[in-house]
Amino acid sequence: MSNTVLIITGGAEDAQVIGNTLETAEDGPFATEWVRSLSDGITRVKQGEIDIILVDLFLPDSQGIATFDVLFKEASPIPIVTLSPAEDDELAVEAVQRGAQGFLTKGYFRTSLVPQALRNVVHRKRVEDALFAERERARVTLESIGDGVLSTDVAGNVTYLNKEAERLTGWVRDDAMGRPVAEILNLVDGTTLEPARNPVDLVMQQGKPMGLYANSVLVRKDGYKTPIEDSVAPIFNQRANVIGAVVTFHDTSEMNAMVQKMAHLAQHDYLTGLPNRLLLTDRLNQAIAYAERHGASLALLYLDLDNFKHINDSLGHATGDMLLKSVADRLVAQVRHSDTVSRQGGDEFVILVLEETQAEDAMSAAEKILRALAQPHHLGGHELHVTTSIGISLYPADGRDTDTLVKSADIAMYHAKEKGRATFQFFKEEMNVRAVQRQSIEADLRLALERNEFVLHYQPKVNLKSREITGVEALIRWRHPSKGLILPDAFIPIAEECGLIVPIGQSVLRQACTQAKAWFDNGMRPLSIAVNISAIEFRSKDFYQFLRDMLRETGLDPASLELELTETALMRNVESSRKVLDALKAEGIRIAVDDFGTGYSSLSYLSQFKIDVLKIDKSFVQDISLGTENGIIVNAVIGMGTSLKQRVIAEGVETPEQFAFLSAHNCEEGQGNFFSSPVPADEFLHLLNH
Ligand code: C2E
Ligand code: MG
Ligand code: MG
Repeated sequence: MSNTVLIITGGAEDAQVIGNTLETAEDGPFATEWVRSLSDGITRVKQGEIDIILVDLFLPDSQGIATFDVLFKEASPIPIVTLSPAEDDELAVEAVQRGAQGFLTKGYFRTSLVPQALRNVVHRKRVEDALFAERERARVTLESIGDGVLSTDVAGNVTYLNKEAERLTGWVRDDAMGRPVAEILNLVDGTTLEPARNPVDLVMQQGKPMGLYANSVLVRKDGYKTPIEDSVAPIFNQRANVIGAVVTFHDTSEMNAMVQKMAHLAQHDYLTGLPNRLLLTDRLNQAIAYAERHGASLALLYLDLDNFKHINDSLGHATGDMLLKSVADRLVAQVRHSDTVSRQGGDEFVILVLEETQAEDAMSAAEKILRALAQPHHLGGHELHVTTSIGISLYPADGRDTDTLVKSADIAMYHAKEKGRATFQFFKEEMNVRAVQRQSIEADLRLALERNEFVLHYQPKVNLKSREITGVEALIRWRHPSKGLILPDAFIPIAEECGLIVPIGQSVLRQACTQAKAWFDNGMRPLSIAVNISAIEFRSKDFYQFLRDMLRETGLDPASLELELTETALMRNVESSRKVLDALKAEGIRIAVDDFGTGYSSLSYLSQFKIDVLKIDKSFVQDISLGTENGIIVNAVIGMGTSLKQRVIAEGVETPEQFAFLSAHNCEEGQGNFFSSPVPADEFLHLLNH
C-alpha cells in the first residue's frame, strides 16, 4: 500500500531532504507533499488521502505546542510525527504526551531509518484504530444488551459491570471496582435463602464455563431479591492462563418477563413484528451519535407501497394484512442483520442502513428491494402484484438529526411517486424548496376557505346539432389576494393530499346549487348543473348526508344536479361506490364519468354502475386534428356511450375541425373554448340570452 506523507515546514531544505529520503526509500517509496504553513496543512488534510503528517512546530503562522494541538484536533485520526531540532527536545516529548506518534530529529532526516520508522507509525496507528473501533463496538454492545455482564480478575475482584449489571446488583461501577465478586453478586439459594457458593472461583479453577446453580437468587445491594439465571466463563490470556472470569446473568421473574413483553409490544408493530416508529427513532438516534463520533455514514430508505390501497379496498383487510406481512418478510431478507426495517404504519416502511459509505451502496440496496418486491405474492388464492416507491436520505449530507433525515427521505419518496412509482429517488436540496412551497400553499388554502376566496366559473355544454346550451359545468378558481386567479390543477391535488378537499368541495357544492337555484328562480330554462367531485370527497363518510342536507337547504331540484366523477374515483372501491351511486340515483341526481378514457377502469365494471353521461377526455378530442387514426378512439367511445344509452359529451372542443368531426360522428354534445371558455356567473347568463 502506498503511503502519502504531508510535510509541514517553513524550511525548504528540510522538506527537500525528507522528501528525497522518502521518495527513494528502498523498501517501497512514499508519495510526499509539502506545505509551508499550518493553515495550508489543515486545508490539505481536509481534502483527504493523507496517511501521515510530519510537522515542524515552528511555522510562519503558528509556533510551539499550539501548532501540534491545533493540528491534532483538525487532522485526527491521521498520525502526526513532529520534526525536532535536537534529540533532547522537550517540546517534541510534550507533543508525544499529547498524542504525537513520535518525532524525527534534524540531522537524521537522511537516514534509511526514516522511511522504516514512518511505516511503523502508520501501521501501528492502523492497528490502534482498528482496536479502538473493536473495543468501542464491544462497549456499545455490552451497554445495550439486556443481560447483566460482570467481569473479575484472577483474584475474583470485580473489574467491570455493564448497565444492566448495575441495575440488577444495585452497585455503581466505580464503587464495585476491585471488590470481591461475592459481595457484588450476592447469591443465595432460592428455597433456603442460604448463601450460595459463588461459581466464579470454581470456573477459574476448572478453566471451563458453567451455568449458575438452578434456583439462584440475587440479593441486590438494598436487599431486594431477584431470581436469576445464566452462566460464567473463564477468560484466558494468550498463553492460555486463566486471568479472570465473565458472568452473564438475567432476571427470570415473571414480572420481568411481563415488563420485557410490554417493552417489546411498545416498540414493535403488532402486525409484522417489525420495529415501529418509536424503536426506529431510538436506533436512528444511536446510529447518528455513533456516526458523528466515528465519521461514519448511514442511509435511510423511506418506502410507500404504490397500489396497496387499491388491493386493500378491493380484496379486503385480511388480504391486505397478509400482503403487508409478506412485504415485511421480503424487506428483512434484503438487508443485513444490523440494519433496521421498521413499519411506520399503513403501507409505509423505513429502513435504516448502517455503514453505507457511498450513495451507490444505498442505491444498490434500493434496487435490490425493488427487484425483490417485483415478484408476485401468492396469498389466499390471489396472485398479487405490488410495487413500491423509495426515497433515500444520507447522513450527514441530507440531515444531521433524526427528524430531518426522516423528513428528507419522505420528501424524496414523494418525488419517486411523481416520477412514476416503482422507483427510487435520492433527496435533493431543491426538493425542500418545493415541499416548503407545498406547505405554504396548504396554509394559504386554509385561509382561503375562511376568507371565501374560492369562486366558480361556468362553462356551457352545447348540443352539437342545435348549438343550444344543454347544461353547465361549475369549475373552481382561487382568487388569491396577491397571486391573482389560480386554476384548480395548481391547488386541488394539494387540497386532496391534506384533506382540505372535503370542506372546499362542500363550499363548491353549496355555491353551485345556490347559484343554479337563483338562476332558475329568475326564469332560466331547465339545464343541468355539473359539479366535479374528487375521489376523496366521494369516499368521505358523510358525503351523501351533506349532499342531501345541502339540497334541502338551497331548495335546488336534485334532478338538475349532475356529479362528475373520474373513473379512478369510481373504481377505488367498487362495492361502496355502487351503494353511494344507487343512493344518489334514488334522489334523482345524475352521474357523469369525467376524463373518460384516461383511467384504468374496465368497461365491464363501468357498465355495472348507473351512469348517465360519459365525458370523453380532451386529450382524445385534441388528437382528432392530428389525423384520422386518433379519431377512431373518439369514434369508438361515442359508439360505446350510445350503446350503453349514455349521453356522450366531448370535452375541450377548440377548433372548427374538431366540431365538424364530432358532429359528423353523431356525438351529441360538446364543451370547450370553441363554444365558450369558463366564465363568471353573470357572463354565463349573458351567454344564455344570446
Ligand atoms: P375537468 O372536470 O375535466 O374540467 C375541464 C377542464 O378543461 C377545465 O379546466 C376547463 O377550463 C378546461 N377546458 C375547457 N375547455 C377547454 C378547451 O377548449 N381546451 C382546453 N385545453 N381546455 C379546456 P380547469 O378549470 O383548469 O379544471 C381542471 C380540472 O380541475 C377539472 O377538469 C376538474 O377535474 C378539476 N376541478 C375543477 N373544479 C373543481 C371542483 O370544484 N372540485 C374538484 N374536486 N375538482 C375540480
Ligand atoms: Mg369535470
Ligand atoms: Mg375532464
